[in-house]
Amino acid sequence: MNLWEKNIRQVIPYTPGEQPKISNIIKLNTNECPYPPSPKVSEAIRQMDSDRLRLYPDPNAGLLVEAIVKYYNLRTEQVFVGVGSDDVLGMAFLTYFNSKKPILFPDITYSFYDVWAELFHIPYRTVPLDCDFKIIKEDYYTENGGIVFPNPNAPTALEMPLEEIEAIVKHNSDVVVIIDEAYIDFGGKSALSLIETYENLLVVRTFSKSRAMAGMRIGYALGSEKLIAALKAVKFSYNSYTMDMPSIYAGVAAIKDDAYFKEIVEKIVVTREHAKQKLRELGFLFGDSKANFIFARHREIPAEKIFEELKKKNIYVRYFKKPRIDNYLRITIGTEEEMNVLYSALKEIVQKG
Ligand SMILES: *Cc1c(COP(=O)(O)O)cnc(C)c1O
Repeated sequence: MNLWEKNIRQVIPYTPGEQPKISNIIKLNTNECPYPPSPKVSEAIRQMDSDRLRLYPDPNAGLLVEAIVKYYNLRTEQVFVGVGSDDVLGMAFLTYFNSKKPILFPDITYSFYDVWAELFHIPYRTVPLDCDFKIIKEDYYTENGGIVFPNPNAPTALEMPLEEIEAIVKHNSDVVVIIDEAYIDFGGKSALSLIETYENLLVVRTFSKSRAMAGMRIGYALGSEKLIAALKAVKFSYNSYTMDMPSIYAGVAAIKDDAYFKEIVEKIVVTREHAKQKLRELGFLFGDSKANFIFARHREIPAEKIFEELKKKNIYVRYFKKPRIDNYLRITIGTEEEMNVLYSALKEIVQKG
């Protein structure tokens, strides 16, 4: 190693799910929405006068913030928007996790958390889930520098009841607790109702899953005025103009079309419940998903084998070669038609054994 190489920041980056270049595949590997975004979104983008791109966008993304404020009946000072929830979460780590004590998150969870902790030199400790992959609230009743986990958790898809989230927040009033609600719209109970009561609670959301806009990169955080002010101060010390103008307009259009949003979420939930039945019949075991994916293992056939066999049939699911979960597949809920192709493919694989 050259001397200069010892003086640069060395990190192992997050690995996102595969985005295959070939068409004609069934893509159930990155929890994207199988339906297009609201038609109002493309209308908003088309109607945007490109002459306006000469100008810097509003660094506060005010129009989008106001649309979110109105939708959830909040105050402007309680909302922060960013370029996908990854941007919001990264900023939140940088802002709130500034203690010498370790932050806590589950051993099986969103695999970006340890990457940010390493990048920002934040000490951390992972807390094992129980044998049913549940988060045990008492494990978080200990001294720490902050807490973060998704609800429902990823990739387990299991929801933690709101009372338990509240207990964790209550027991940790000296640190910030971040609840990553990337999948909350698919049937979970949001912690948003708690932000008026607990100043140390930050709720993070995204347009990428339930609003079908992963390609647009919109995420947001909801919390107390003090938390949001601190987050903004860090963001404006780093890069002010992160959200571009088309995203702001598209985001507003998506929020306003609530009927469409509810329609696609409902379709996914119906397909998910049907998938639970089908996968059970095929010999899969899994917990009760409240997300747009199911985290399952097969009674007999190793997950890695099923993963490879599905790939040969142009069906992509997610497989993590990691301790404790290397016999599981994370299967995103697609359209009914896509799922029917999946069930037939799985049937063949299971029959061959
Ligand atoms: C998908 C996902 C995100 C990131 O979403 P973006 O808004 O697309 O950056 C964050 N947290 C969890 C748990 C996710 O699954």
